[in-house]
Amino acid sequence: MTHVGILGGGQLARMLALAGVPLGLRFRFLDPAPGCPAAALGEHVCAAYDDPAAITRFIDGLDVVTYEFENVPVATAHHIAEQVLVRPAPMALEVGQDRLAEKKFLRELGVPIADFLPVGSHAALLAAVEDLGLPAVVKTRRHGYDGRGQAALHAAADINAAWSAIGEVPAILESFVPFRRELSLVVARDANGSLAPYPLVENVHHGGILRTTKAPAPDVSADLQQRADGYAALLLDALGYVGVLAIELFELADGSLVINEFAPRVHNTGHWSIEGAQTSQFANHLRAVVGLPLGATTPLGFACMVNLIGTLPDPGALLALPDTHLHLYGKDPRPGRKLGHVTARAASVARRDELCERIQNLVAHH
Ligand code: AMP
Repeated sequence: MTHVGILGGGQLARMLALAGVPLGLRFRFLDPAPGCPAAALGEHVCAAYDDPAAITRFIDGLDVVTYEFENVPVATAHHIAEQVLVRPAPMALEVGQDRLAEKKFLRELGVPIADFLPVGSHAALLAAVEDLGLPAVVKTRRHGYDGRGQAALHAAADINAAWSAIGEVPAILESFVPFRRELSLVVARDANGSLAPYPLVENVHHGGILRTTKAPAPDVSADLQQRADGYAALLLDALGYVGVLAIELFELADGSLVINEFAPRVHNTGHWSIEGAQTSQFANHLRAVVGLPLGATTPLGFACMVNLIGTLPDPGALLALPDTHLHLYGKDPRPGRKLGHVTARAASVARRDELCERIQNLVAHH
C-alpha cells in the first residue's frame, strides 16, 4: 500500500486524503495544530515543521511526500527530499513562498504580469510609488494569503498607513490591475510532463477572501483558455512540476490576461471539481505524485462553489437544494476562517446561476 506523507493537515490535506483512500493510499500528516482537519483521515504527527525528531518520525516508511500549503520551511522540504521522493520538487515552494522570487520567475518566463518593484524600506516604498505611479498595491514578500499582508495605495497620503499596515517588512509594490474579472486555472502535470488543465473558472473575492467560484467561467473563448493553458505549460515545465498547481489571473476589458500569482498546491478555486469534473483536483494531484495516469478534467455540467466563512449556515436548508453538496472541514468557527464549502451542479448556466444565488442567500443570511 502506497504511504503518502502530507506537509500540512488543513482542509486541503483532508480533501486529498478523502480522494486518496479509494485509490488505496494511506496518509500521514505533519501539522503543529492538534485536531487539525486532516487528523481524522490518517496518522497525525503533531509538531512544528522544523522539528528534526518529528520530521524523522514523519518520513519513516513513506513512499512519497507532498504538501498542502506553500509556507512549509524550504529547509524542511530539502531535508526530506534527501531521504524520500518529494513531489512537487522543493523548488516550487522556494519560488512560490516569496512574492519577489515568484514575480521575477514569472517575468523571466515572459508571461504577462503587473509591473512591480521590490520594497525593503519606507524610503524604497516612496521611490517605488514615484516610479510605478498610483494606484498600486503593496504586498509582503512572505506569508500573505487571504488578503492578509497587502494594502492598496490610491493616493500618496496612503503610503505611511500602508507601510505600517503590512508591518514594515520586506515587500513588493505592484501596479494596480484594472481587471474585468478574476479567473484561475488549476492544472495537473504528471512525471512524464503530460498536462491536464481544468477549464478556467471565475472567482469573486471579498475582503481578500475567495467567496464564490463558477466553473467553467462564463464566456471563455477557446483562445482565452488556450492562452491560459500556454502560460501554465511554460510555468509547470520550467518548475519540472509534478502535481496540481493553481494560477490566479486577471482578465482585462480587452480580453488580455495578467497573471497575479500561483500556488504550488491544490487550490480553493478547484474545490468544485470534486463533484463538477470527471476527476477532482485532489485525485489528480495524488495520481501525479504516486505515478498513476492523470484523469480527465472534463466538467460535468456547470458548477458553483461557495465558501463557508466564519459561521456555518443551516446544513438542512443547503442540502434541500438540488444536486448540492456540503463539505465541512471540522474547524471551530472564527471570523474570517474557511469552515467549509458548498458545491452545486446544474445542467445549464442559467440553472447554475440561480442555484448559486440561492446558496449565497442562505450563507449570507445566516
Ligand atoms: P493576492 O494575495 O495577490 O492573491 O491578492 C488578493 C486579491 O487582491 C486579488 O484576488 C485581487 O482581488 C486583489 N489584487 C491583488 N493584486 C492586485 C493588483 N495588482 N491589482 C488589482 N487588484 C489586485
